[in-house]
Amino acid sequence: MDMEWYASMPKIELHAHLNGSIRDSTLLELARGLGEKGDIVFSDVEQVIMKNDRSLSEVFKLFDLIHIITTDHETVTRITREVIEDFAAENVVYLELRTTPKRNDCKGMSKRSYVEAVLEGIRSVNSVEVDLSDEVVNPDTATSHVVGDISNGEASKKVYVRLLLSIDRRETAEAAMETVKLALELRNMGIVGIDLSGNPVVGEWKTFLPALEFAKKQGLSVTLHCGEVYNPDEIRAMLDFLPKRIGHACCFGEDEWKTLKTLGIAVEICLTSNIRTESVASVEVHHFADLYETNHPLILCTDDSGVFSTTLSAEYLLASSAFGLGRMEMFELSRKGIDYIFASDRVKRELKLKFDILSHLGL
Ligand code: 5GP
Repeated sequence: MDMEWYASMPKIELHAHLNGSIRDSTLLELARGLGEKGDIVFSDVEQVIMKNDRSLSEVFKLFDLIHIITTDHETVTRITREVIEDFAAENVVYLELRTTPKRNDCKGMSKRSYVEAVLEGIRSVNSVEVDLSDEVVNPDTATSHVVGDISNGEASKKVYVRLLLSIDRRETAEAAMETVKLALELRNMGIVGIDLSGNPVVGEWKTFLPALEFAKKQGLSVTLHCGEVYNPDEIRAMLDFLPKRIGHACCFGEDEWKTLKTLGIAVEICLTSNIRTESVASVEVHHFADLYETNHPLILCTDDSGVFSTTLSAEYLLASSAFGLGRMEMFELSRKGIDYIFASDRVKRELKLKFDILSHLGL
């Protein structure tokens, strides 16, 4: 009963990695295809995909494998469409999807063509109406105009989708800058910000700082994976940067919590991910409880719904049962997420109205 309720409740997803959110069935189908071509050994890959408990470092090995399976334009388009359809099916009404633009010369893929394949996937969604941008470029006239929303579905249900481009911590300063410039070139196509992610024990903050400063100066919103491992110097430097949001915040000490709370930076909370990767010992000791009690801005998210076999509804159910929160409190938590989205004020207004109407209807 509760699961049904959380599935029907409108939700805001702000921390979902595209390649971490692929359906298992699609991943297995794609892997089988590559196995038949002799590119990979399917049975080895199948075992890795179906494994449930993974440490944080094993998760990054899995991503390398997923990237081998998903690297061509059509596949990128397909997985994007499916991921959006899956989120929309569980009543995610605003989805900020993030992905790392990838170059793959042997597939004729540039970072730009990768992102274009993702955008094509968003446009190809049919099961639900998609609002992708406040502003789009009309390819026929090459002029920019405001359209309010892009409707490419027949159903009355609507999901707002915005894209963040991720910088992988394995990348160089130049590659990071290339991603930011790409985001700026495509910002009127629904790209609203930049994320820093990838294996937290790889790379140094100072490598990415120039690109992130540039992004901020140009008006792109920035979110950082912060404090996934114990690294107080990096956490402090990241908070000094004043990102609009951070993800995870698992390994914060007292000083870092104090700074975070003083600055009021919103935290994207991914309960199942943190527990599965053992970044947090158990849900009972998760920092969700303290942030919630102190009224600190937080947003429940999935991180990698495919990799961690979860859904946003399941994350809400988990938080509700672990922390003793009722349906109305969870509805309110979801609604508050609107304040931290990277899309325009128009989208915020429309979402708030939607939540208010549903609240009056008794959902
Ligand atoms: P993609 O960017 O290829 O669409 O999604 C997968 C990528 O997202 C991974 O290769 C990794 O860089 C990043 N990612 C996914 N989950 C996590 C996570 O829990 N922590 C960090 N730091 N990065 C992640």
